[in-house]
Amino acid sequence: MENFRAVRALARLRLMAPSRVATIAPPLFSSAAIQHIQHRRTYASKKHPQGFEAPSTAELVELRDRVQEFVRREITEDVASHTDKTNAFPSAMWSKLGEAGFLGITANEDVGGLAMGYQAHCVVMEELSRASGSIALSYAAHSQLCINQLQLNGSPTQKKKFLPDLIAGTKIGALAMSESGSGSDVVSMRTTANKVDGGYVLNGTKMWITNGPDADVVVVYAKTRPEAGSKGITAFIVDTKTKGFSCARKLDKMGMRGSNTGELVFEHVFVPDEHILGAVDGGARVLMEGLDLERLVLSAGPLGLMQASLDVALPFTHQRKQFGSPIAHNQLVQGKLADMYTKLQASRAYTYVTAKAVDEEGIIRTQDCAGAILYAAERATECALDCIQLLGGMGYVEEMPASRILRESVIPSNYKTNCTTMHNH
Ligand SMILES: Cc1cc2nc3c(=O)[nH]c(=O)nc-3n(C[C@H](O)[C@H](O)[C@H](O)COP(=O)(O)OP(=O)(O)OC[C@H]3O[C@@H](n4cnc5c(N)ncnc54)[C@H](O)[C@@H]3O)c2cc1C
Repeated sequence: MENFRAVRALARLRLMAPSRVATIAPPLFSSAAIQHIQHRRTYASKKHPQGFEAPSTAELVELRDRVQEFVRREITEDVASHTDKTNAFPSAMWSKLGEAGFLGITANEDVGGLAMGYQAHCVVMEELSRASGSIALSYAAHSQLCINQLQLNGSPTQKKKFLPDLIAGTKIGALAMSESGSGSDVVSMRTTANKVDGGYVLNGTKMWITNGPDADVVVVYAKTRPEAGSKGITAFIVDTKTKGFSCARKLDKMGMRGSNTGELVFEHVFVPDEHILGAVDGGARVLMEGLDLERLVLSAGPLGLMQASLDVALPFTHQRKQFGSPIAHNQLVQGKLADMYTKLQASRAYTYVTAKAVDEEGIIRTQDCAGAILYAAERATECALDCIQLLGGMGYVEEMPASRILRESVIPSNYKTNCTTMHNH
């Protein structure tokens, strides 16, 4: 973490003192380039911490190197496979991710975050997913769905209260929007929040909640005025130690196993007024605006999974010999590998160009946040299927990661790229 800070500080020094850069020979940038950089750097988006400066390419490369180092050490194939087989998140991973500085990528520096923006968050998500889709999904539910929602909508007091522990990985976060009867049509949610003295009382159930079985803090959406539809939803910060909160069950999923998903129950759960996130009855805005950036960051998951498919298929097809030569020498095999590579690069371009527009211009295109995850997730499933075919029989056994990668790739295309987007746009 300190390394990122040092690299960022150096870059800022150079960029904040263009006159020095221009007068001390040799100039690093032309004056037109400096003007462009200054314009870019002074842009302040509502979706970034105050004083945010979009990271340079060098900073993003440095970050990617750090995540890859972390993954080599902490998320080996054994860890990924064990997490999948046991369907249990390796709980020590939270503090390791926290110590590495990866949990607060988009959050304020004064609460422990790195304030590096959404391109950086995609980089971390991509590299973690390359190692384990399920660990990465839990990571994103914590760092984007929970932490970033608090970052964007929390009051200074709420941020100080909740973010430091979440960013350190000593507390676990989740976000609860979906219900068993309200998935794509999330606004039809039935969980209620009734006003009482000093706060609200929540009643209802939430389904499919990533990190739900382990969470300490959950951002929960509930109806404060059920008759008002989308205008009667409010977001709350719920401490899971509160009386009346429970996790009814942990789901046994086909993929993303070990990213613990739960059904949450709220039975007269008291939430104090100071834990309302955003405005009363303003929850739909919090939810919808959050979904754009959640989809964007989650779209980096399938990128990592496509890279994982290539990581398996490339060496295998070069080592495996049939008819006296490596199977990769056949044009049909080369064609499949070329397709996989091209799908990865096209998806990568879509995700990162969308994230760059958010970081550098403050432009969030709902249709592109949804499009990026839709496109990447479908391509990841195709790549994983190709990977299995390229491995022949070895693609069909659990000794190799190909089946895990396929099972992890199938999920995100439905995950949140749902009808809510299509109805709104
Ligand atoms: C692994 C996993 C993790 C998740 N994590 C979270 C989380 O952390 N927090 C959270 O709040 N939620 C979470 N979800 C829930 C997720 O957001 C929902 O699954 C998603 O919104 C879809 O809802 P649904 O499953 O009820 O499907 P449904 O809405 O019932 O959809 C079923 C099918 O019908 C289609 N469909 C629905 N309406 C229409 C329509 N009008 N036109 C055409 N087709 C339609 C859908 O596209 C889909 O193919 C998670 C889900 C999974 C699987």
